[in-house]
Amino acid sequence: MPMIRTVVFSCCLFLVLVMGSGCAGLTPALPVVAVKRAQMHMGTLVSITAVASTHEDANKAINAGFMEIKRLEQLLSTWISESELSHVNVSAGVVSVHVSIETLTVVQRAIQAAEMTGGGFNIAIGPAVDAWRVTESQRIPTDSELEALRPLVNLQAVHVDVLNQTIYLEKIGMQIDVGGIGKGYAADLAVTVMKKAGAVAGVVALSGDIKTFGRLPGGKLFPVGIQHPRQDRAVLAWIDLQDEAISTAGDYERFFERDGVRYHHILDPRTLQPARSCQSVTVIAKEGVWADGLDTGIFVMGPERGMELVEQLPDVEAIIVDHDGRVFLSSGLQTRVRFPSDSDAKGQGQ
Ligand code: ADP
Ligand code: MG
Repeated sequence: MPMIRTVVFSCCLFLVLVMGSGCAGLTPALPVVAVKRAQMHMGTLVSITAVASTHEDANKAINAGFMEIKRLEQLLSTWISESELSHVNVSAGVVSVHVSIETLTVVQRAIQAAEMTGGGFNIAIGPAVDAWRVTESQRIPTDSELEALRPLVNLQAVHVDVLNQTIYLEKIGMQIDVGGIGKGYAADLAVTVMKKAGAVAGVVALSGDIKTFGRLPGGKLFPVGIQHPRQDRAVLAWIDLQDEAISTAGDYERFFERDGVRYHHILDPRTLQPARSCQSVTVIAKEGVWADGLDTGIFVMGPERGMELVEQLPDVEAIIVDHDGRVFLSSGLQTRVRFPSDSDAKGQGQ
């Protein structure tokens, strides 16, 4: 899973910081506290930072955020046999399944992301994801095996009935997999409950799917480091975020190599093979659900068509590292992104 490091937050962990100068005669600025905690959810490390007026409030907001992510995992995970999506999948070709508004919404967003990315994003990819199981078995499925799955990877056969709140997969063997969009969606919903619980600012990071709101104590924006796709633990670029989400899809965390070829977990729905045009795609958007859905879809589209799409979408920006390691920045990022040093990856593309 691609990682965007939130290195900076470690320094404000459990610190009590006072905003403003607190001059005599003026209304004293309210103290604000930043607290950060991490737990495992959705098969990944989730870290939540909350800024609030007391430790108690910050911890309340963090607890609410974790609980929300856990709740969504119970609905959306295909690793949990009792989840709503698992019910939808086992009922494929048989019966439609009534689902929660959250499951319905994430599937609707996924279908919209598929339309936007010309089919690069496709949640009907489930059977092909199973066939590859890139990290676990390191097995390369045969062409005929993938050919047999092709009719199942068909988004037209995914029927969402908004009125009755049901989902029906038309063919036996179909499986939808929201692994490419669900963490961004979960980050959005976690932020909503944190705000309700009293947090004035914060960050929800499900590994590389991150959503921020408000500002750090002292007024600074939240800085985020984007992982370099070919240099372990090196930052490709830094960016400051406010009320934005960022998400990275990359070929560098879940992969194996065979005969010099890298096999990874983002599949091209046309070939059912790992998508080949990019090393990583980072998308910045107002909502995590779009940042996450689009990063995977654009990874499949490739740098040219992907950047064309980004330029058409308001409030969406991207950093794309192509197959050869060239870095492309969308127009809105040209002055927002900082590279660790001049000699770094910046040089080539853009
Ligand atoms: P992660 O943050 O877990 O790496 P990504 O946003 O990069 O997630 O999406 C990768 C996941 O999306 C895969 O593990 C798989 O479950 C699913 N997936 C793979 N290819 C596609 C695709 N073309 N469209 C939609 N989902 C995909
Ligand atoms: Mg994604």
